[in-house]
Amino acid sequence: MTSPIETDVVIIGAGPVGLFAVFELGLYDLKCHLIDILDRPGGQCAELYPEKPIYDIPAWPEISGQELTSKLMEQIAPFSPQFHFNRMVTGFRKLENGRFEVETDEGELFHAHAVVIAAGGGSFQPKRPPVPGIEAYEGKSVFYSVRRMEEFRDKDLLIVGGGDSALDWTLNLQPVAKSVTLVHRRPEFRAAPDSVNKMFAMREEGKIKFEVGQVTGLKGENGQLEGATIKGPDGEVEVACNRMLPFFGLTMKLGPIADWGLNQHENLIKVDTEKFETSIPGVFAIGDINWYPGKLKLILSGFHEAALMTQAVKRLAHPGEKMVFQYTTSSTSLQKKLGVQ
Ligand code: FAD
Repeated sequence: MTSPIETDVVIIGAGPVGLFAVFELGLYDLKCHLIDILDRPGGQCAELYPEKPIYDIPAWPEISGQELTSKLMEQIAPFSPQFHFNRMVTGFRKLENGRFEVETDEGELFHAHAVVIAAGGGSFQPKRPPVPGIEAYEGKSVFYSVRRMEEFRDKDLLIVGGGDSALDWTLNLQPVAKSVTLVHRRPEFRAAPDSVNKMFAMREEGKIKFEVGQVTGLKGENGQLEGATIKGPDGEVEVACNRMLPFFGLTMKLGPIADWGLNQHENLIKVDTEKFETSIPGVFAIGDINWYPGKLKLILSGFHEAALMTQAVKRLAHPGEKMVFQYTTSSTSLQKKLGVQ
């Protein structure tokens, strides 16, 4: 095991809220290391809806999940955050000197004044549909999210599910793919009515196919899909396809953090609304992972929580130091930190 990495703050999760926390903490000279299970920043925005537009980020009338992530990365660059991807935070303990030790499943140790849990829905995993042998195709021709639409260009695509993701991707990928077949076990959907109407209109125009039924078998070799069997009310049909996108929802698990002894509320971490501190002083929770009365799981709520958390972490890391509230527009010292002076 290598020697511990010493820093001011360890942030668990590099989703939008963890990223913005780097900015707020950076303004107060607090250095951060971020750890994430995923292989890149952005959390749900990058993993689940990189190309979908978000309409409620203040001052951005429309911005995609990936664009928001890129802008946040640009905004925090002056503070040189250190990222540790493809690692799950597993262990946590308070050290005798009052600092915290955080451990990853790769065996790395981090020592910090404060721990900020920005773990969103926890370690999120797509639900696997009950299709025999599907594991052999996963990551090769069966995918649970769309990272780049180009990967589906000129493919024969089978989309399975009846929620927003299934409908949205049917509409968005139709112009890109060679063919699109949507499969859902009934003709009623849980998706936005407008998307459902658009999908049925596309079917009328012959642009997509829609099958009522369930995928019961896959055909292919070496992980490359060639077709699927669909069992519907009128029997079985074979659909030729070389890519499949099942959207059966996600299971969100708090993971190892659940065993840290933090007070919880329905699998979320309880915090106060002054500092967003958990039941363990020095450990904070911001973004989708926390709960307090009135909590809204919105990106903008997480940004606000990051700003208030920072005030508390600054006091903890540098006790006795005067806290000076400053605007970025008028403070030359903040502008120097941002490299714009
Ligand atoms: P996340 O984005 O969930 O990021 C948390 C990160 O923590 C993840 O990358 C995860 O891998 C990591 N992690 C978890 N546990 C560990 C661990 N033990 N070790 C290491 N890493 C860990 N919000 C809006 O405001 N507006 C919208 O229009 C909007 N649209 C949405 C559309 C969809 C389809 C979805 C699914 C969500 C939408 N949201 C929207 C919600 C928004 O994405 C979330 O509120 C936001 O992503 C929360 O950010 P976060 O940083 O708290 O968590």
